[in-house]
Amino acid sequence: MKDIGALLIDLDGTLFHGGIMIKDADRLIAGLRVAGVPFLFVTNNSSRTQEQVAAHLRGMGIKAEAHEVCTSSLASAHFVAQESPGARVAILGEEGLHTAFKEAGLFVVDESPQVVVQGIYRAFDYAALAKASRWIREGARFVLTNPDLMLPTDDGVMPGAGSIGAAIEAASGMPPVVIGKPEAYMIRYAAEMLGIPVEQAVVVGDNMRTDISAGGKAGCRTILVLTGITTRDNYEDYAKLTGAVPDLICEDLAELMVTLGV
Ligand SMILES: [Mg+2]
Repeated sequence: MKDIGALLIDLDGTLFHGGIMIKDADRLIAGLRVAGVPFLFVTNNSSRTQEQVAAHLRGMGIKAEAHEVCTSSLASAHFVAQESPGARVAILGEEGLHTAFKEAGLFVVDESPQVVVQGIYRAFDYAALAKASRWIREGARFVLTNPDLMLPTDDGVMPGAGSIGAAIEAASGMPPVVIGKPEAYMIRYAAEMLGIPVEQAVVVGDNMRTDISAGGKAGCRTILVLTGITTRDNYEDYAKLTGAVPDLICEDLAELMVTLGV
C-alpha cells in the first residue's frame, strides 16, 4: 500500500484483548515510530481519558502518549464544540467523557441542557433514563459516543453504550447523532488531529461492522487484521452484512508490518 499519510489504529481486538497485548503490537508501534509513519490510536470506548488509554497501552509494553490517542469522547466533545458552541451539555458517561468535555471548554450542567451526550455509563439507571429522555423530548440534541451494543470485558460480554442509547432512543422517540465507528465523524476528526487529508489516512482494525465500515464512509483506505472479531471463517458473512470491503486483509500484525514495510 502506497502513499500512507497516517494509520488510524483500532485498539481492542487489534492491539490487545482486554488487558493482554496481541502478539507483535509492541513491535508494530515501535516500527511505525522508527519508519516515521504517523499514527493515532483510535477507540470507540468513551470511558477512559486519553492519558488512561495511553497508560493502559504502556502497561502492556506498547509505547504510547496521551496526545496519540483519539477516543469517541474526544471526538464527541469536538463535535459539540463545533456544532453548538457555548451550549449547556448534560453528560451521561464516565471519566473520559467528562474530561473531554471540560477540556473542550464546554458548559456541563445537570438541568435544562441543550445537548445530551451519552457514552458507556455503568451507573446508568431508571432516573437517568427518565431525565435524559425528557430533555431530548423537550428539544435537546442527543449525541451518542458510539453505538456498540456489546462491550467485551474480562468478565465476558457486557451491555455497551449503544444498548443504553437504544433505551434513551426508545424512551425519547429520537435517534441520536452517532460520533464513533461505524459512522465517519471520529475517523475524520482523527485525520484532522494529525493534520492530514482523510483520503491519506488508512484505518486498521479487526471489526468489519465498525472499523472497516467507518473507514469506508470517511473515504479512507482500510486494512482488516484477523486478530479479533473477524476471522477467515466469518469474513464472508460480515462482508455481506456490512457491504464493507477492506483494501487489504492481514492475518496478523507481523503480516501487517511486512505489508507496511516497517
Ligand atoms: Mg476492535
